[in-house]
Amino acid sequence: MAKDLAEALPPYRTKVVEPIPFLSAQERRRAMDDAGFNPFGLRADQVTIDLLSDSGTGATSAEQEAAAARSDESYAGARSWFRFRDEVADLTGYPHILPVHQGRAGERIVFGTLLKPGQICVSNTHFDTTHANVELAGAQAVDLPCPEALDLDEPAPFKGNIDLERLAEVLAGPDGHRVGLVLMTITNNGLGAQPVSMANLRAAAELARRHGVPFFLDAARFAENAWLITQREPDHHGRSPRDVATEAFGLADGCIASLKKDGLASIGAFIGLRDAELHARCEANLIATEGFSTYGGLAGHDLERLAQGLREVVEPAYLRSRAASTARLAAMINDAGVDTVQPAGIHALYLNAGRLLPHLQPHQFPGHALGCQLYLDGGIRCAEVGSLYLGTLDDQFRVVRPAPFELVRLAIPRRVYTDDHFRYVAAVISDIAKRAAEVPGYRIVSAPAILRPFKVRMAPVE
Ligand SMILES: *Cc1c(COP(=O)(O)O)cnc(C)c1O
Repeated sequence: MAKDLAEALPPYRTKVVEPIPFLSAQERRRAMDDAGFNPFGLRADQVTIDLLSDSGTGATSAEQEAAAARSDESYAGARSWFRFRDEVADLTGYPHILPVHQGRAGERIVFGTLLKPGQICVSNTHFDTTHANVELAGAQAVDLPCPEALDLDEPAPFKGNIDLERLAEVLAGPDGHRVGLVLMTITNNGLGAQPVSMANLRAAAELARRHGVPFFLDAARFAENAWLITQREPDHHGRSPRDVATEAFGLADGCIASLKKDGLASIGAFIGLRDAELHARCEANLIATEGFSTYGGLAGHDLERLAQGLREVVEPAYLRSRAASTARLAAMINDAGVDTVQPAGIHALYLNAGRLLPHLQPHQFPGHALGCQLYLDGGIRCAEVGSLYLGTLDDQFRVVRPAPFELVRLAIPRRVYTDDHFRYVAAVISDIAKRAAEVPGYRIVSAPAILRPFKVRMAPVE
C-alpha cells in the first residue's frame, strides 16, 4: 500500500504559492452575466479552479528559476540559446533547431514554407490552430482518426492513432500526388487527449516515405505520449520515457513542438528539421517575422526555463504521478455517475455532457451548459468541445450540423493543483449530476465569423 502510494507520489513539494479567489454564488452569476456566459470572457481572478487550458499554465521548478536568473540576453549567439539548442537536439536528434515564441508560429513558418496551395496535409487529427495554419497556407487539412476513437466508452489503449488503411488509400489514390505532408499529433489533443502507439507512428512514417511525402510530428505532448507508450504498448514496457520520445522523433523528418505544454514553461516552442535546404528557407522566414534564429521571439530566460523543463518533463516519477493524478480525478467523476471519454489521458478529461443532460438538444449546447454550471456552482472554468465549438451554424446561429459529441474538457495544468482541489471538482460535478434535469440550455446572442468559442456571447434559455 505505502509502496504503491510512494510510486505515484509527486516528486516535488510546494515552495512558492499563489492565492486563489473564492466568490459568492451571486458574484459568480454577475461575473458570468458580464462575460456573456462565455468562460473565455471571465477574468482569471474570478475563477477558483482554472481548468480552461494546460497550455502555459504549469508551475516552474526552483532549478528552472535559477537557470532563468543565469540567462544570457544577448541579441545573437546567447549562451542560453546554445543550452536550449543542445538540449533539444540531444532529445530529438534533429540537426536543425529553430526557436519560436509558440507552436502556431512554428506552424505558420513550416506550412508556409513546405506546403503549396492546393496540397493536402493528412493527420490523425489537426489541432485547431494547426488546421487554421494549413488552410492559411492554401492547403487542405484532412483528418483520418482510427475508427475506435469514435466510441467514447471504448477503453482501447491508443485511440489517438491514425487510420492506416485510409492513409494508404489516400496516398495511393487519385489525390495522392497532392499530399504534401503527413502530420501526427502526439498526444491527439483534438480527439480526447488519446496517445499514438509507436507501431502506428512507425507504420505511418513508412507509408509516407514510400510515397515520398514528408512525415512530421506535432509534438506538444511528446513526453506524455511517450509515458503512455511505456505503460500501454507491451514492446516498450520498462523503457525510459526519454528514450521512447527520442525514438518517436527519430521516425520523423521534422517536428513542430509547442513547449507551453511539455516544456513546463509559460511560453516557447521549436521547429526541428533534418533537411538543410528547408531549414534555410524556414530560418529566413523566422528572422523576418519572429526574431533572429538564436532567440526566435523568446527571451534568454525563457530558453533557460525550457531547457531545464525538457529534462524534468521526461522524469518517470513526474509522468507517473501526473498520469495517476488525472486517473484519480477521472475515477471520482465516474463514481459520481458522470461518464468521461475512456480511457483517461493525462493532460485533460472530457465529460460526456450529451449523456448527462439528455433533456438538452445540440442547439441548446449541452457541453456549454455543463461548463457554465461548473462555474456558477463551483467557480470552475473549463471549455466546451461540442456543437458550439465544432458544429456548423447558419447566419441565424441555428445548428445546421451538430458536432458528433457534446463534451466538456477539463484541462489539467502541470504541477499546480492537488488532490484536495480535484476532490472539490469531483464534488461539484457530483452535485450537478444529482439535479442534471435542472441545468438550463443556452442560446447564442452574438458570435464572430471565425474562432467562435473565444468571443461568442450566450444567454441561458429559461
Ligand atoms: C497547443 C497546441 C498547438 C499550438 O501551440 P501554441 O503554443 O498554443 O501556439 C499545436 N498543436 C497542438 C497539438 C497543441 O496542443
